[in-house]
Amino acid sequence: MVLHRAVVAFACLAEGFGRWADSRASSLIPRKLPELRFASLTISGANDPQSARHTRARSPMSPTFAQLGVPEHVCRALERGGILKPFEIQAAVIADALEGRDICGRAPTGSGKTLAFGIPLVVNVDQAKARRPRALVLSPTRELADQIASELRSFAGQTKIGAVYGGVGYGVQQKQLQRGIDILVACPGRLEDLMAQNAVSLHEVDQVVIDEADRMADMGFLPAVRRILDQTATDRQTVMFSATLDRDAAKITRDYQHRPVTHEVGEVKPDIEAADHRFWSVDKTERIAACVDVISTTGSAIVFCRTRHGSDRLARQLVQRGVNASAIHGGHAQNRRRRTLQEFIDGRVQALVATDVAARGIHVDSVASVIHFDPPEDQKAYLHRSGRTARAGQKGLVVSLVQSNQVGDTKHMQRQLGLKQPITSPDLSDDHTVPPRPRKQSDQQSKSRNGQGPKRQSQDGRNRSGPKNKNRNGQGPKGQSQGRPHRQNRNKPRSGASSR
Ligand code: ADP
Ligand code: MG
Repeated sequence: MVLHRAVVAFACLAEGFGRWADSRASSLIPRKLPELRFASLTISGANDPQSARHTRARSPMSPTFAQLGVPEHVCRALERGGILKPFEIQAAVIADALEGRDICGRAPTGSGKTLAFGIPLVVNVDQAKARRPRALVLSPTRELADQIASELRSFAGQTKIGAVYGGVGYGVQQKQLQRGIDILVACPGRLEDLMAQNAVSLHEVDQVVIDEADRMADMGFLPAVRRILDQTATDRQTVMFSATLDRDAAKITRDYQHRPVTHEVGEVKPDIEAADHRFWSVDKTERIAACVDVISTTGSAIVFCRTRHGSDRLARQLVQRGVNASAIHGGHAQNRRRRTLQEFIDGRVQALVATDVAARGIHVDSVASVIHFDPPEDQKAYLHRSGRTARAGQKGLVVSLVQSNQVGDTKHMQRQLGLKQPITSPDLSDDHTVPPRPRKQSDQQSKSRNGQGPKRQSQDGRNRSGPKNKNRNGQGPKGQSQGRPHRQNRNKPRSGASSR
């Protein structure tokens, strides 16, 4: 895998695809400390509004399917269907999914999520016995279930794909299940009916995809989804795609995923209601004191500055006032940025002083506050910056430091965003419940052991997304001939991931 990653990285660098390599490099960060489940997540190619367009344009910066570890014969089958290069979400997700990792994915409609989860499913799935599928895709609607099944069939070779959903008779679906379906695409209601009839058992399902989890939640399917997940193998891989990764999706992650890697592509749409937004009127000179107050009250902050120079200077000034702050911007080498980010994730750095560009693609959960030290460029930048806090269903404080000459622009931006808060003098008197912020790795580990970690681990003492050593012999496009260590890796401790 190390070699494979090295080859991919080299290929991309050699072709001048620095940005892609950069984004992959960023994605190493959380994996180096996989225990930091609550502190660190993701990393995407780009979170700017352009990224969706990049996806559609199939930018030459993306790797090939083969470079992501997709076996040759699957690549050829995809090519026959006109699928030549991975879209951005596919480039982000496929390698991790092939390795058996749990994944949270968010990407806009039409960005190619079906193949992002579908290719790894087809490559890794084992052969099913009668009525015992090996992989399950949950879909909120029949139409989507049909679409997914037919998209998978288009390149799946001999792998058997079936779809079950309501509104049609049971007979055909029961017969199909009896003959054996490797990958079952199902709507939750019908699947539960078939389970009740003993037409299907999920005990051998070790790969699950929950597609459109947010829609599933809106349609009231989550209790059924939970009951279904409870029936699947305890050591399964769980992949979830959702338009938003907070609220219900975050609960699924909490309860059913194990050390998931999060991949987000496309425009970030933070929930503006989730955070407490404040606008403080300050003199230029009062800004640092206000910053110190917010950081020491809330515990952690990302502070946004307009320029690299300004970020360095502010970090120094905060340190002089006893705040453990570090700047992060494009003027620093990648290694240094990675180290700074990790220190922030670990809780060794309280305040990350960042430029907008440096903050793109960085997602750290449990950030208590965001401070707009310099005003954002526009309302979109405000949303991007503010979305760094109040993530994954947590609380967060967003403070804008507004100088007198910035009042007009700020009010204009507030109107565009529908924010009605008055611009007041600095005031932190209200309750600011700080989300718990992990300080060290050991805390994280004990947290997991103490039940905030995935439920499944406690069931049988096994790590669900960990060890597996099952290879299906013979049938379907397995791609084992390439020697890619995807499933075998699940037999090893996660430390293997640190080489990435
Ligand atoms: P989403 O689930 O993100 O809304 P889909 O997976 O349905 O999007 O994909 C949208 C369309 O893009 C589908 O018609 C699909 O066949 C096509 N598509 C997906 N990936 C690729 C690719 N790499 N190259 C070309 N077309 C693709
Ligand atoms: Mg879809």
